Amino acid sequence: MSGILGGPNSEMSGVRCYNAQCNIQNLIKQLKVMSGKKVINCNKCSVIRNEYHNFLSPKMKILGTKGFSKEILETEINKYISTRKELCKSCCNYMEIMHEVEPHVFIEVDLLGYYGNANSKISFIPTTIMINKKQFNLLGIINFIGNIILEVDQTLGHYTAYIKRSNKWELHDDLKKRTLSVAPQEIINPHILIYVEK
Ligand SMILES: [Zn+2]
Repeated sequence: MSGILGGPNSEMSGVRCYNAQCNIQNLIKQLKVMSGKKVINCNKCSVIRNEYHNFLSPKMKILGTKGFSKEILETEINKYISTRKELCKSCCNYMEIMHEVEPHVFIEVDLLGYYGNANSKISFIPTTIMINKKQFNLLGIINFIGNIILEVDQTLGHYTAYIKRSNKWELHDDLKKRTLSVAPQEIINPHILIYVEK
């Protein structure tokens, strides 16, 4: 049976398993709005390829322990997309890898609670940051209410979104009847920050 319906998602019984993970990372991947790309261009063997980033992922150990200052977030994001040397898989020579950033970026900050305090005031999240020498403005924050068990299959919770509109913050929560205005002092548990290029 597994031969007929074979593949990495099939059980021995032949019953097909679907990936029903609904964490925010999976949902954003399905949006297919890319945050950036790694440009692989080897001038020794002329391999040219792009690898897309769904998220920009700063080092959470640093953000978790030092907090969300503009300088720290900028430094960690720019480190993530910095030009570096990597070994070309085709010719085994070193080549320079560049990163390009798209006008909308999703920044993954979901492991804050693992390294420090998961909670932050909305007003602590930098409203503007410089990425690759371009200015990006904070547009929204995806928040998570729930436990902080790190194994995906044991995590139970609820996502909400905070959106900045006309310089005021709104909470969008599908368990509530309407959009609510919120103060910048509201305590949140940010999982994804959304910035747009100015
Ligand atoms: Zn090469």
